[in-house]
Amino acid sequence: AIIEQLGADGAPLRLYPSPESAKLREAVAEYFGLGREYAFAANGSDDILNLAIRAFSDTSKSVAALQPSYSLYPVLAKIQDASFTQIPFNADMSIPYEKIFASSANIFFFTNPNAPTGIGFPEAAVRKIVEGSNAIVLVDEAYAPFSDWSAAGLVKEYDNLIVTGTSSKGWGLAGMRIGWGVASPKIIEVLDRVRDSYNLDRLAQAAGVAALKDRAYYGRMRALVVEQRRLFEEFLDEMGWRYFKSSANFVLFEPANARGERGANVAKSLFEFLKGMKILPRYFPNEKRIESYLRLTIGTAEQMAAVMDAARKWAQL
Ligand code: PMP
Repeated sequence: AIIEQLGADGAPLRLYPSPESAKLREAVAEYFGLGREYAFAANGSDDILNLAIRAFSDTSKSVAALQPSYSLYPVLAKIQDASFTQIPFNADMSIPYEKIFASSANIFFFTNPNAPTGIGFPEAAVRKIVEGSNAIVLVDEAYAPFSDWSAAGLVKEYDNLIVTGTSSKGWGLAGMRIGWGVASPKIIEVLDRVRDSYNLDRLAQAAGVAALKDRAYYGRMRALVVEQRRLFEEFLDEMGWRYFKSSANFVLFEPANARGERGANVAKSLFEFLKGMKILPRYFPNEKRIESYLRLTIGTAEQMAAVMDAARKWAQL
């Protein structure tokens, strides 16, 4: 689709792209079974998170999100000079509803499935948050393609709900910077007022349309990731290592060494061991609650075999 858009000599690039990414919005709306007036497209979903903060927060309108979740939200709030409230998950990583409802934030970010835990929450949880909250609720669904549902359809029922998605994970197109959001036409109109006039280039728009339309191919690719995730969780069970059952394309797990010890230093030891083999999980020395955990992105069957082999070797040291 990108090559077709370029033509033989790149001549189409002399022309500006569609300012509202019209065809991509249509493809997004069609993908989620919504009218086109509910759809928005942006330069990656980070672009929409930023636009939502610009539109719905300022020095007197605060921002809130659960902790731990995506680390970009507080950064964006800071740029806007908006105060940011971190609402900690309950000890068992369940949702602290009452604290969310008691918050005075004007916009609340709910990452579902969550990052970095990978925990996915069901429709009833999203409905409860949206119905009980005074804020505009932005459900960040970057990882939803690896779960079994999306809240996108709910925007027809709630006009304080924005659901964002991205081609970066579920479609393997992070380099193209294609993100989207769905929300009531009233919210879309506000996002349109604050976005760049041409926030997606021609190539990205064409790639986004092609990606969203090829459901069969991406369905197969996601099934491969989900299968490798199942095998990796089986491996963690076998090792007796704790983990959060994942609805995303990564797993957050707590390694134990040969002496059965866990903790920040143990996680660091496995992190360094894997890094030495050019395998790079993430670890969170500055996040107290998960400092003994590593987050591993699910890769190909060969990559996962290499990780599990290395982790087994480390566990015997
Ligand atoms: N939301 C979450 C929870 C993420 O982890 C990421 C990726 N870092 C994004 C949004 C942004 O993705 P992108 O801008 O590539 O669409």
